[in-house]
Amino acid sequence: MTEKITYAVEYRKGTKWNQNKDSLYRYMECKLCGQMVVAGEEAIAITCSDCVNELSDPVEIGYKKSDKPRGWTLMKEFIDKDGNVYHRGVEQPKLKGTLTPTAFEKSDKPAKRMTKKEKHELISTAAINLHKLKKQLEHTRWKKDKKVILSEIKLHTKIAMNKFPRNFDTNKYLDTYKNNA
Ligand SMILES: [Zn+2]
Repeated sequence: MTEKITYAVEYRKGTKWNQNKDSLYRYMECKLCGQMVVAGEEAIAITCSDCVNELSDPVEIGYKKSDKPRGWTLMKEFIDKDGNVYHRGVEQPKLKGTLTPTAFEKSDKPAKRMTKKEKHELISTAAINLHKLKKQLEHTRWKKDKKVILSEIKLHTKIAMNKFPRNFDTNKYLDTYKNNA
């Protein structure tokens, strides 16, 4: 009995450090994310290591969005919406209700944990853009044009190193740079 393979299969020459450059390797599309990964000759369906990691990531249980601003425990004085007073994070019961709640801007978006897949996507997008920009830089004569390129290089370098600026917007970044390179 032969089982039918429903996933894309491709033979590619070795390119990785642990592959032989003169051999062909069988690649198969990951059944979850679709990226091509090395698969054994017999494999009919495969889950890539990224997806395996993704599946085994710990799940956050009972996470509740804080109603206090970031760094409130470091504040000399912080008064929450119920009038509880805190001095550097320590509650001062005697002062309860005597002061006006501290005003702070609530961020609407709860900090979302980035998935491994998103990170991969960001890093590869950054790498492609860096490659392109460095080439561009070589052919640029004017200082002011170079400046623009250099500042973009700075951004992509950070992303490529997995360092995301504060308020970094994943979707916006991918929209702007993913298919633009
Ligand atoms: Zn996958």
